[in-house]
Amino acid sequence: MNFRELNLHESLLEAISYMGYETPTPIQEKAIPEIIAGRDVLACAQTGTGKTAAFILPILDILSEMNDHSIKTIVIVPTRELAIQIDQQIQGLGYFVNVESIAIYGGGDGSEWDQQKIALTKGADIIVATPGKFISHLNLGYVKLDKVKHLILDEADRMLDMGFFEDIQKIISFLPKKRQNLLFSATMPVKIKQLAQKLLVDPFEIALALSKPAEGVLQAAYMAYEEQKAPLIKSLISGKEEYKTIIIFASTKKKVNEIARSLQTSANEVAEISSDLEQSEREEVLGKFKAKKIRILVATDVLSRGIDIKDINLVINYDVPSDAEDYVHRVGRTARAETTGVALTLINEDDIYKFARIEKLIEKEIMKIPLPKEFGEAPAWTSKPKYRKNQRGRKSSKGRKSSSNYRRR
Ligand code: AMP
Repeated sequence: MNFRELNLHESLLEAISYMGYETPTPIQEKAIPEIIAGRDVLACAQTGTGKTAAFILPILDILSEMNDHSIKTIVIVPTRELAIQIDQQIQGLGYFVNVESIAIYGGGDGSEWDQQKIALTKGADIIVATPGKFISHLNLGYVKLDKVKHLILDEADRMLDMGFFEDIQKIISFLPKKRQNLLFSATMPVKIKQLAQKLLVDPFEIALALSKPAEGVLQAAYMAYEEQKAPLIKSLISGKEEYKTIIIFASTKKKVNEIARSLQTSANEVAEISSDLEQSEREEVLGKFKAKKIRILVATDVLSRGIDIKDINLVINYDVPSDAEDYVHRVGRTARAETTGVALTLINEDDIYKFARIEKLIEKEIMKIPLPKEFGEAPAWTSKPKYRKNQRGRKSSKGRKSSSNYRRR
């Protein structure tokens, strides 16, 4: 199938060709005709599947025939990075149509508040917003939502994980009852199904095959005690010029900071990104990383989902992500399109269970590479860890020593 067969307006076909998209992705093939036909959609799809264009294109197609700039489409997303990224895709794909959009998110220096207020007062066709900031504007009464025709929730599972359920309900309470609803989620846990039941009317359902990292990614893991991790990643990176862009994910801001400092050398351009940074600083770091002015980016979970940075050669999970789906998202930073990449995970003795769960999810056993001799003895991998519930109700493996300096968030 090609884009022309999807009956999109000529101006959109032109923008699609400028964006370099040749054929629709599976989710685009399925979603675009249904959305244009006015149907509610429930889609289980991850970043990297082309899901954003799967809802932007039909919405732009519909909006291009309406000439007033009242607010007609609301896209709610979990993070400001995603809001910015979607807004940029709207700008790109909507370049030749008369449709305005604005991203509404918090975390800046406050100067954008007035700009957001003006845009919301005068109306922009599409609002892409994070829940909290949007509600702050809604509460002040100047946002007119009576012409809203579409509500889109993107990365809905992430939003619920982040505790936005009430906020989403609140936003919905401001909207006209008759509207088209689209719900996109990387996973379909019970709570998303419940939300879908409440929100969607006779939805067209799209479930893409369970996420698995692209075939081109070489995945491997090292068993390592916590204190062995920092020297190990240093040795993994040093002298490896083929790794031109590297992302290291760690579980806490403190670790991010320590790793970034330990890797900073004249040969390494290193930057860190965590929720400690101001919005403008985060954007600057991301911009430099995308432009390949920074070789190594050390990040907390903030970055792992939703953000589309291409051509990462090496992803290192300094800690095993708690959410098995997050592993897939992180590894998905590499080997996009035709590039290939390497994804390495460091597993300490406490994280064996979490890693076993990831292997179960992706239905693949990941190669465990022995630690180089000079690092000493490593914890042993066991594919069948025994579990007990710890005080927090989380499962952990039994009868093992904890390394002394291991801290959790
Ligand atoms: P998404 O899953 O929405 O995060 O999109 C992932 C990446 O795929 C983005 O960089 C899009 O610009 C790109 N993309 C979306 N649709 C297509 C397509 N039909 N052909 C090629 N690239 C696409």
